[in-house]
Amino acid sequence: MDFSLSEEQRMIKDSVRKFAQERIIPYAHQWDHEGKFPRELLYKMGELGYLGVPIPEEYGGAGLDYISEAIVFEEVGYADSSVRTTLSVQMSLVELTILKWGTEAQKQKYLPNLCSGQSIGCFGLTEPNAGSDAGNISTSAKRSGDGWVLSGQKVWISNGTWADVAIVFAQTEPGSKHRGMAAFLVDTKTSGFTSRKMTGKLGLKASDTGELFLDNVQVPESALLGKVGEGFKIAMSALDNGRYGVASGCVGTAQRALDVSVRYAKERIAFDKPIASFQMVQDMLAQMKVDVEAARLLVYNAGWVKNQGLVSTIPVSIAKLFATEAAKRNADMAIQVHGGYGYSDEYEPEKLWRDCRVASLYEGTSQIQKLIIGRDLTGIAAFE
Ligand SMILES: Cc1cc2nc3c(=O)[nH]c(=O)nc-3n(C[C@H](O)[C@H](O)[C@H](O)COP(=O)(O)OP(=O)(O)OC[C@H]3O[C@@H](n4cnc5c(N)ncnc54)[C@H](O)[C@@H]3O)c2cc1C
Repeated sequence: MDFSLSEEQRMIKDSVRKFAQERIIPYAHQWDHEGKFPRELLYKMGELGYLGVPIPEEYGGAGLDYISEAIVFEEVGYADSSVRTTLSVQMSLVELTILKWGTEAQKQKYLPNLCSGQSIGCFGLTEPNAGSDAGNISTSAKRSGDGWVLSGQKVWISNGTWADVAIVFAQTEPGSKHRGMAAFLVDTKTSGFTSRKMTGKLGLKASDTGELFLDNVQVPESALLGKVGEGFKIAMSALDNGRYGVASGCVGTAQRALDVSVRYAKERIAFDKPIASFQMVQDMLAQMKVDVEAARLLVYNAGWVKNQGLVSTIPVSIAKLFATEAAKRNADMAIQVHGGYGYSDEYEPEKLWRDCRVASLYEGTSQIQKLIIGRDLTGIAAFE
């Protein structure tokens, strides 16, 4: 495997980095305090092709490979995890899921607007009583005439109050768990569909997180994504893409934690010397560097597998598990390098630490990634 970047990948990296330095980094702290970032940012990112990186050009995407996608997530993740989360959900969980499972009419209807940023998507799987145990959802889908009626509640849905279209997972046969699940593409303006912003989060404050309420929402048969009974498979395939985005974004976070720490260590004087001259500070920096490099290689490995069109579940789980934990370790270490100042919101590490804490929770906790890897190793599923 050769992980050197192609000319095209290098150009994307430079272009997203420049965009992030000019349009995201200077404002990220303000957005964190305000609890939102401007909607217009997504229009601009859509114009530049950042919202549809791996989507074919015929559907409005950039038609690029999965390493290019990882590069975009890494650079945006370097700048701000809230914006990266919004982008991950849009591109990995919504667009790629419609691309894989949608009919031609669904692809034509949704993908161009999602890629351009004219439309925002969300992914509605988690419920108050079903997170890791996604097969246990209770949102119901009942046949009605030649369509369906959906009722239930979703929680912790990123882009939840912003979304124009929601992928909603529902149960068509109560008690049948995975076997009866189905996925629906629901326009959020449909009567009976409401959402409410969730507040009080530890971090990722500028990212929209919402609850969705479906009160007898009537959708036509054409809203069904895939077939009845394929819902769980669709959710898991979407998470294969989503986890890759989270892992890539966390490489950016881990790199940022390292960069700000190296800079600070060279500037901060203690015992008449820059703290960078102390071996134990270099020990922290070296450990952070190893974490960043290892995380990036695991992401590129998973991207390579995806580019070959092979099943990527295990390499993606490994990359997600390692990169999210590495980002948390690096953000924590960055606070240590900064001493007391690391505890202040006037310096970078505090926000990095708060923002990346969620990465080992959403899209499958670290424990769930270990169970997926363990099942592959032993042939025994420890979570069924
Ligand atoms: C900011 C944010 C954004 C999110 N965005 C979305 C979104 O866009 N769409 C969406 O659908 N969901 C979203 N989620 C939900 C997220 O995916 C879930 O929170 C996550 O899957 C965990 O589910 P849970 O919170 O119900 O925890 P639980 O499933 O209750 O888990 C609690 C603890 O038990 C452990 N555990 C559970 N089962 C097992 C087991 N079998 N073996 C070992 N340990 C186990 C878990 O690892 C965890 O440590 C988001 C969450 C957050 C916080």
